[in-house]
Amino acid sequence: MTPDPLALEITDRGEHALARLVAMRSQDPPTTGGRVLSYVYDSGLTELDELATRAARLAHGVNGLDPTVFPSVARIHGGIVDRVRAILGGGVTGAGGEGRSGDVYGNVTSGGTESCMLACLAAREVAGRQPGSGGTIVAPVTVHAAFRKAAHLLGLRFVGVEVDPGTGRVTAAELLAAVDADTVLVVCSAPSYPHGVIDPVAEVAAGLEADHDPRIGLHVDACLGGLVLPFWPGSGAAGPGDTGPDPTEPNPIPQWDLRVARVTSISADLHKYGFAPKGTSVLLSRGRERHRAAWFATVDWPGYPVVNPTLAGSKPLEPAAAAWAVLEALGDDGQRELVARTARATDRLVDGLSEVEGLRVLERDPGPLLAVVADETAGEARGVHPHLWADACARRGIAVQAQPAYRQERGTLSSSSHLTITPVTERLVEEILRVAREAADEVRGRPDPVPPQAFADVLDALASGALSPADLLALPEDEVHALVGGVLAAGTDGVDGGDAGSGSMAPLLAAIERLPADVGARLVRAYLAAVMEG
Ligand SMILES: *Cc1c(COP(=O)(O)O)cnc(C)c1O
Repeated sequence: MTPDPLALEITDRGEHALARLVAMRSQDPPTTGGRVLSYVYDSGLTELDELATRAARLAHGVNGLDPTVFPSVARIHGGIVDRVRAILGGGVTGAGGEGRSGDVYGNVTSGGTESCMLACLAAREVAGRQPGSGGTIVAPVTVHAAFRKAAHLLGLRFVGVEVDPGTGRVTAAELLAAVDADTVLVVCSAPSYPHGVIDPVAEVAAGLEADHDPRIGLHVDACLGGLVLPFWPGSGAAGPGDTGPDPTEPNPIPQWDLRVARVTSISADLHKYGFAPKGTSVLLSRGRERHRAAWFATVDWPGYPVVNPTLAGSKPLEPAAAAWAVLEALGDDGQRELVARTARATDRLVDGLSEVEGLRVLERDPGPLLAVVADETAGEARGVHPHLWADACARRGIAVQAQPAYRQERGTLSSSSHLTITPVTERLVEEILRVAREAADEVRGRPDPVPPQAFADVLDALASGALSPADLLALPEDEVHALVGGVLAAGTDGVDGGDAGSGSMAPLLAAIERLPADVGARLVRAYLAAVMEG
């Protein structure tokens, strides 16, 4: 048999492409090993990553669009939903209780943003609202940006309820005060991404139950916490099968999951503390109506009957198969052990960072997130700006995430730096703390970061009133591109030196902090587009 000449050709070119891929990937910061303290969730077990890769390979080629053609899609999605529902207090559908309105149904999605978006879509549909007719999503301002995005895409209005500027906390009363006849969904986080705060879910539920239309949804965004809080040691959240928190534990977490009867939906990401590769999250909804309200179906075209439970049409089974295999392999005991490692690392980091002169760890709830701000009591000469500190950490190979100050009428939430702790962090705690101290020593007493020179003219013109925010929003995209291009050209000093891959972010964040939010959004969009255009 003569070999297929095309096969020979593509093998050759393919090898070349793979070699280039290796070279490109070598420019990225490491996704495992614990030196990147956001975006990646590393169990620290190479066996688990290997398992996920093998499971994904076995699912290769399947189109997750159609479980009537590929039955494994329904089995795998069903397995994931059953497991996450049990972890989040949703009980088991079927067995005896089939069809009760309290039953919990689930959808596997591509990620947290999609889960949150579908929860908002379902809420809009259950409320019988048309896009643009004034329906609102009510949430603390600290809720994930995915809900602002959902409002934008779904023709809803986002109503952000201000939080205590010192603690990042909202009260149930404040949140409920924003609920009115236009509200289709109220959202709480468990926990919030920026500061790791768990919103008062049970109290909000009680208020909704007592005073409001039962069709208003209550969504708990547990994208981050859903697979970690139920296993957190010492918090009373003893995990699956439990009836509720144990108040004798040192730091009990008030109930926040499906055990709170008024909660109508909840999202949890497998690609975070499920330790699965990127591309899998779950949305659980109470009752068939809300569950199916997010689905799109049509027979009104000449092609195949379309039913899409999620936003995509054709979709890979690989991420779900990988997540399913990881869940099966870990089980409750594996998950509990990985979370215990995470919790030990978190405690030691909180203790160590609290001792760094000039920094302060924000008050937080049990969980794997922490945020550090400048210690206001340190005085100008001894203060450490968290963004300068983040850049100094990056130069030493540890990437933490800078978060801009957030202006609200009740007072500004300070500039901060965010750390996401994972099981692998435990091995690196001493190194991270050493870097944290050295970085603080380097930048202590420095003046606050200033915006990039390329933005100076614009910011001056805004400050003097020569330009209004509306003028800036009216600028043609090519002019905004030119403005941002100057920043990109000047702002890559950190890339060559540091292992953590990020350039100096403090000046860009300083610009964001000084600009109106809509102008800032336009600038960061242009910035990322310029990065993508290369
Ligand atoms: C990560 C996250 C999201 C969004 O999830 P993606 O998977 O990044 O789309 C939503 N809410 C919270 C609290 C998160 O941490």
